[in-house]
Amino acid sequence: MALMRTYFVAVLLAAALAAEDGDITVYQTEDQAVRECFPSADAFGSEAIRLDDAARGRVAERAGRKVYEREVLVRSAWKGDALLGYAVVSEDLGCYKPITYLVATDAAGRVLEIRILVYRESRGGEVARKRFRAQFEGKSLGDPIRQDRDITNVSGATTSVRAITDGVRKVLAVLQEAYLARGALPARPLVAAVAPQPPAAGPVRRARVLMGTTLEITAFGPDAAEAIGAAMDEVARLESILSHFRDDSELSRAVVAAVKGPVPIGDDLFACLFACERFWRASEGAFDPTVAPLVEAWGFKGGTGRMPTDGDLASALALVGFGHVHLDAERRTLAIDRDGVRLDLGAIGKGYAVDRAVDVLRARGIATALVNFSGNMRAIGTPTGTDGWPVLLRHPRDPEGSLGVVFLRDRAISTSGDYEKSFEVGGKRYHHILDPRTGRPSETACAATVLAPTATDADALSTTLCVLGPDRGREVGSSMAGVQALIVAETSPGGDLRFVGTAKVLSDLHVGESCGAIDGAEG
Ligand code: AMP
Ligand code: MG
Repeated sequence: MALMRTYFVAVLLAAALAAEDGDITVYQTEDQAVRECFPSADAFGSEAIRLDDAARGRVAERAGRKVYEREVLVRSAWKGDALLGYAVVSEDLGCYKPITYLVATDAAGRVLEIRILVYRESRGGEVARKRFRAQFEGKSLGDPIRQDRDITNVSGATTSVRAITDGVRKVLAVLQEAYLARGALPARPLVAAVAPQPPAAGPVRRARVLMGTTLEITAFGPDAAEAIGAAMDEVARLESILSHFRDDSELSRAVVAAVKGPVPIGDDLFACLFACERFWRASEGAFDPTVAPLVEAWGFKGGTGRMPTDGDLASALALVGFGHVHLDAERRTLAIDRDGVRLDLGAIGKGYAVDRAVDVLRARGIATALVNFSGNMRAIGTPTGTDGWPVLLRHPRDPEGSLGVVFLRDRAISTSGDYEKSFEVGGKRYHHILDPRTGRPSETACAATVLAPTATDADALSTTLCVLGPDRGREVGSSMAGVQALIVAETSPGGDLRFVGTAKVLSDLHVGESCGAIDGAEG
């Protein structure tokens, strides 16, 4: 029995996520859900359905949406020789995070019920309510299954409603492709397989709140759960070193001590600051972690922003400049030559942590994994039968839209955007990526996505290119080995968007309709 799953059909293991998992809600496991949907079944089968380009095209046409999956695992439920129906677990992107859901149908492909298995968004969880889900019952591909046509929208949950309605059409179209259109039947399991599948067969996914956001790791392999646990512990250790929110972190203590003269610092803090120096130099000061006092003046340190006074800005700006920070690579020391200089590693720390988590996973023999730390992602290998882990690029001006998809494999990706943290005064938006030279939110770009060999580089560079803007940003991105970048900028405040990329960006990015022509990109 082929049990390898793609990212989209992640098995949820019996061990439900613990309370520490923030706004992630795990409703039930796949096995529980399948058995509850077919209470009279005495056997369950499963088949991995491969979708080549032609099959994917037919599924997309029937579903009326794009389809990225290369393999879908279809479960079948049986009572004696009678096929009761099918169940498919799939994932579609809500606003920012995938929603894991199950669609169960009868043998003719009519929806018996849908279930939400894991919900990760902070809003829109109404899609898990019975009253919403019941709308799908009895529907088949002949029905529209569209928001505001035969599925009533839930206000405040529009994006999640769309993800689920599109997802149900996708699953029904896969069943058509795999069985119904050909009058074929799934293989009947030889033995009653009511027992859950062995956990090692599918990916293990865990999430934990660290550094103020969610770290999610997906990994394959018999030791995946332990390896993920160790990788998460490593990130927790790094938080206690790199955090500028904690007074007792190594960073906070070293910054105070370093004003009096060089102080020895640990390998991780040194490596991270050393990378900062590299990007500060390469960007001629656009990337600069000494923006810490400015970030506070603008109210973005742990807050959603506020307008600083001119006086606040001037005194904060006087403390900005990585030139005051001195690293000695031989002695591994840090010195700061100006009192009051502080460091904010918010633009690079999560990327650095992702790289160390990847080291831990690899050291434990994991060959297929995805580490996702709030949009800073790095992949080890790719699930069998896939070209890479699909990563959707958010449209910077349409939270429900995407610019395209990247299939990530043995590389890292990061996106920075002015929409992440911002506030408005007098119709003007002020955001959290600051130009260290002016002390104000940068106005050159609204988002930058960077693909790089490491997550440290992708994280630091995506912030850097947001500050540098499209033209200089492309030059700096192009000068770095293994880097591809896409920078999105407004042609005038609130106006049309301009897309600028490195020469080979289109070899990685499969653009969607809402992404315009990319200046500088070949092909
Ligand atoms: P990111 O989300 O990786 O783009 O990082 C943004 C965060 O980095 C902000 O919230 C600030 O804490 C910090 N930051 C803002 N501007 C800069 C800058 N020019 N250089 C370095 N860090 C910055
Ligand atoms: Mg960054």
